[in-house]
Amino acid sequence: MAISMARGLLAFSLLAAQPALAGTPEAPTTPVKPLSAIAAKTQGPRLLEPKLVMAKIPGEGPAVALTFDACMGQTDARILDMLIDNQIPATIFVTARWLKRNPEPLAKMMAHPELFEIENHGENHVPAVDRPASIYGIAAAGSPEAVAREVEAGAEAIVKATGKRSTWFRGATAKYTRTSIQQIQAMGFEIAGYSVNGDGGSLLGASVTAKHFASARDGDVIIAHINQPTHAAGEGVVKGVLALKAKGYRFLKLSERRETLSAKGL
Ligand SMILES: [Zn+2]
Repeated sequence: MAISMARGLLAFSLLAAQPALAGTPEAPTTPVKPLSAIAAKTQGPRLLEPKLVMAKIPGEGPAVALTFDACMGQTDARILDMLIDNQIPATIFVTARWLKRNPEPLAKMMAHPELFEIENHGENHVPAVDRPASIYGIAAAGSPEAVAREVEAGAEAIVKATGKRSTWFRGATAKYTRTSIQQIQAMGFEIAGYSVNGDGGSLLGASVTAKHFASARDGDVIIAHINQPTHAAGEGVVKGVLALKAKGYRFLKLSERRETLSAKGL
């Protein structure tokens, strides 16, 4: 499959990610922070967090792409039912782990192929980073061989469950090295970055999450989670998506925008 980004259909840029564990803007001289923690910020491979936005189409009104990660665990019915009830399309990134435990939600998604496309979030939710690293406390794949397994076994699990080969890949934590990005692209996948962090890893409160969604503009690709039914963030996702709908936003799957643009010869 042609890489749409190479044709300029999707703007794609690599931004230097915050180093793993970076979270607070404390100065290194702050006495509260142990020196070892500061040193840890500068260790490990340089990580990249690709940003992905859709090209704007004049005259078609604002559109965003909703992308939901199903990392493991269960399914947030608040979000899934809201999407179905309102006929709102989304791209769902699933792991092999999530697929094993969620046959019924998957069947619900597959009953609405006009709404959902199922894409690759890896086999075991291991960051697709080809050198040893700890990202948000999760051990990275650590080698090119382990990255290949995470990506390919994730794709195979989706073929087994849906009969379809995924074309997008988003690794756990959405962070990569430059070389792991090249490796995954060479395996035939496009890297699914994003431009708006909707729910902060599903850890934000409902009102903050809704505000993040409200900040989306035409062309944004929003990331959130659909696997945490007990988190308050899910309530904010529902509110945020419905507020965008009320403002007249349209919702596109990642591949849908690709085809739309391609048909226009852009
Ligand atoms: Zn995830």
